[in-house]
This record gives sequence, structure tokens and C-alpha cells, in this order.
Amino acid sequence: MIPYGCQTIEQDDIDAAVRVLQSDWLTCGPTVEKFEESICEYVGADYGVAVSSGTAALHLATRALGIGPGDEVIVPTMSFAATANCVAYCGGTPIFCDVEPDTLLIDPAKVGDLIRRRTKAIIAVDYAGQPADYDALKQFNLPVVADACHALGARYQGQRMYANMQVYSFHPVKTIAIGEGGMIVTNNAQWANSMRSLRNHAGAGRGNQTALGFNYRLSDIHCALGVSQSKKIDRFVSRRREIAGIYDKAFENTMIRPLALKEGNEHAYHLYVVRVSERDRIKDRLFQRGINAGIHYRPTHLHDFYKKHYYTFNGLCPVAEDAWQEILSLPIYPTLTDRQIEYIVNGMVRR
Ligand SMILES: *Cc1c(COP(=O)(O)O)cnc(C)c1O
Repeated sequence: MIPYGCQTIEQDDIDAAVRVLQSDWLTCGPTVEKFEESICEYVGADYGVAVSSGTAALHLATRALGIGPGDEVIVPTMSFAATANCVAYCGGTPIFCDVEPDTLLIDPAKVGDLIRRRTKAIIAVDYAGQPADYDALKQFNLPVVADACHALGARYQGQRMYANMQVYSFHPVKTIAIGEGGMIVTNNAQWANSMRSLRNHAGAGRGNQTALGFNYRLSDIHCALGVSQSKKIDRFVSRRREIAGIYDKAFENTMIRPLALKEGNEHAYHLYVVRVSERDRIKDRLFQRGINAGIHYRPTHLHDFYKKHYYTFNGLCPVAEDAWQEILSLPIYPTLTDRQIEYIVNGMVRR
């Protein structure tokens, strides 16, 4: 089976993990800081806080913003559920915003209609690996968090640091893989300190807990993989862009519609998403040929949990709901070969 995404682990990554296993520190050692520094340097951020997953990173970001009961946070409905869940974890209310039909990024024109006195922040998602429209989102004078779990290696208007906080995931399907892990990067020292404290029991381990903390620590074993993998971000992303270019060309003048690329964006291509009618039939055909294409995602407001507890309903975000019927994520990862790409293209365009 050809999956939609897959990690690239090389011998030097393995050696780096083994060196930590032979050292004195398996967790909370020197490699955590090294990994934070390497991602900060890459992105161009002042502070990095490594945590146990992208989801934990989103949770700490919302905690650092002080989100609590009664607070509303605007999130795009077209995302993995964790984007909205982090608001719910804090007792806040995720307010679902619709997306642009051609990019599936949060639609800034619709954000304005959702802002009220209780709105405390906006979380944008760099869907598929393309940054959202941060210039437009910053006009609302609210903190803007980028769920950049898809977008390590992307640039917005030439910059890799473009939101007030950016959240990354290092799950095996993402740009770099360390098993499980995440990181928040920011230029705000106060938020960074708050998240550092919350990830490690907020002081309880040193004798006095000053807030309700968590164990969201990331081990030195994971961070060793992270330091080693972070040297490869550009190489991995450049192969992803090459693959996207081959798909783009193959689908010209067909009924297969790739998502649009916004001017000024450099895409990280975590996902290669096309829109097609009769999507389920095409997905089944690919599956029969050993190609496991994905559907990313059911709009979050259509999950039973949100319908039941947050009173969301069909028709709340019509653009995302229509897109959900047509989207298909084709395999894209650095070790996908040109022959495999040709095989996938043939499965898409020929009967
Ligand atoms: C992967 C992902 C997450 C969660 O990351 P984990 O490391 O799996 O917890 C959150 N948001 C988006 C958009 C993601 O793709």
C-alpha cells in the first residue's frame, strides 16, 4: 500500500537517538534545549517550547492566552479536530469559521462577522502546508495563533515567523518525524515562560505548584531525533514541492482541481489535496490499486461531539461542507518515487 504520508528516517537519525540512549539523560536533559534552538533558528523565532505532541502544544498555547469559560476563540472548521479541541480543553468555546473555496484556508472576510466582546483569539490553520492570510487576520487586533502543524518549511511573504505563536507537530506524517512531539514558537517571553512552566507540572516537581500544570514534557530521545531531522527540513520540503509540481502538471486540463496557491506563499505540501466530483468512486479505485489516499478533513463542526455539546449543525459552514465531499489527499512524502507518482497519476486520470 502506498500511504498518503510517511516519515523519512535515515542512519544519522538512528545514531542520534542511540547516542542519547547511551547517555545519562533520557528526559529533561540537554537535547531538549538543542532541539528548541534548532527549530527557533530555522523559523526565526525567539523562543521555542518543546512538548509531547502538537495537540499538547495547542493546549498550552490556549492556556498561555488565558482562555477560559465564557471566552470564544475563532477557528477554521476545515482542520484536524485538535485545533478546536484545545479551546474546549480550557473550557472556552470554539467558534467555527468557514474557509475559502480555492485554498480551504480560514476566510478573513468571515472572521469579522464572528468577532464579539467575548472573542479572545484567532487560531488559523496553515491547511495542507500553505500559510493563511495573516496580514488580514492581524487587522482584528486579537492574538493570532498559527496551527502550523502542516507548515514547517513554509513561508508567508518571505517569512517563516508570521503569527504571534506558531504550533508544530512532529508526528511521522508531518514535515519531520520524531515519533510523537510538538513545539510552540513565539517572540513573546511571557507566553514562553508560562508554557514552559505548564508543560512540567507548573512547579509541583520543585515543591510548589503555582497553576494547574501538566506533564507535556518531550524526552531527550525524541529531541535527538528532532535535532537530527531539523537539519533536513529544506531537503524534505523541496522534494515535496517537486512532487506537487509533477501532480499539478499532470492534472492540467483535467477535471481534477488542485487547491490554489496564494501569491507570496511558499507551500510546505504536508498534503497534496485535489477536489474531484465522484470522489468516493475515485478513492475506491485508487485503493484497489494499492494507493491509500486520504480525506482531510470532516469539518470539525460536523463531528458528533461538537453537534451535541456546542450546538453546531449542518449548514453552519457551507463552503467547507461542500469541499468535504470533493477533497482527496494524494500520497506525498520525500521517498515517494517518480514511478510511484506516475502510477498514482494514471490511477487518477485514466479509467
Ligand atoms: C497533526 C495535527 C495536529 C496534532 O498534532 P499531534 O502531534 O498529532 O498531536 C493538530 N493540528 C493539525 C492541523 C494537525 O495536522
